Amino acid sequence: MSDHPLPFPVFDPGWVWLAGAGPGDPGLLTLHAWHGLRSADVVVYDALASAAVLSLAGPGAVLEYAGKRGGRPSPRQPDISRRIIQLARQGKRVLRLKGGDPFVFGRGGEEALSLVAAGVPFRVIPGITAGVGGLAYAGIPVTHRDTNHAVTFLTGHAATGDVPDGLDWPALARGAPVLIVYMAIKHLGTIAARLIAGGRDAAEPVAVVSNASLSTQRILETRLDRCAEDVADASVEPPALVVIGPVVRLRAALDWLGALNGETVLNADPLHSRSLDRTG
Ligand code: SAH
Repeated sequence: MSDHPLPFPVFDPGWVWLAGAGPGDPGLLTLHAWHGLRSADVVVYDALASAAVLSLAGPGAVLEYAGKRGGRPSPRQPDISRRIIQLARQGKRVLRLKGGDPFVFGRGGEEALSLVAAGVPFRVIPGITAGVGGLAYAGIPVTHRDTNHAVTFLTGHAATGDVPDGLDWPALARGAPVLIVYMAIKHLGTIAARLIAGGRDAAEPVAVVSNASLSTQRILETRLDRCAEDVADASVEPPALVVIGPVVRLRAALDWLGALNGETVLNADPLHSRSLDRTG
């Protein structure tokens, strides 16, 4: 890519670039993130930045891990922010690399605010969020004209470690035709029960996509009332996304990655092979 046509922004010393790494497949990096990886002095990465993405860092770049590992407690967010500010003040070009998009359930907003408070200049490089690009790798479009005119992203895990209690579950059950749940595995049983109690059809299709876009990608198709049990039985590995709603059925025809791997993809019209009506 040395003959690239883009006038890339200059990565100046003392700057932080807060970049998204996408869901894992390095081909899903943006060109700006790739340029940042090539130019950075230090790459401060979290647990979701894949090894394949990190291997694109320039030969002189120091890779510094900031995240959970091997069950050890994760560094506290203020410590991570302090470290990034410290490196920038040392005159380093700091690439802060986060999985997916830095501003989607990734605490990128918090880190950016701490940079503002510290007077450290920064650039934000969006990434492909797992809840869109990762699902595309599972053959699931997040919207389809025949199924949903809205899509709702939520996290199943609040800072306290519990199911977020600020969410209006009955309203989500009634009003969100497709729900894409990040960090959902731990509390999946509670989430499913709250949605069903709020009027959601117990038979609603659910897909659980783990390690999306990586060679270890796995997809479990289930239904709302059984999903927690099925996830436990299948020992689904994190990171995983849960998608609830009729778009899951499209996978039967759109599993392009499975087709590339020689698996049979149904040629049927998956949306009309069953009623799309939702209760609630
Ligand atoms: N900023 C990230 C999300 C961070 S929250 C983004 O935009 O994608 C962490 C959660 O993201 C995980 O618990 C999981 O739900 C989801 N996730 C991230 N990468 C994933 C992947 N490759 N496969 C499946 N889920 C993923």
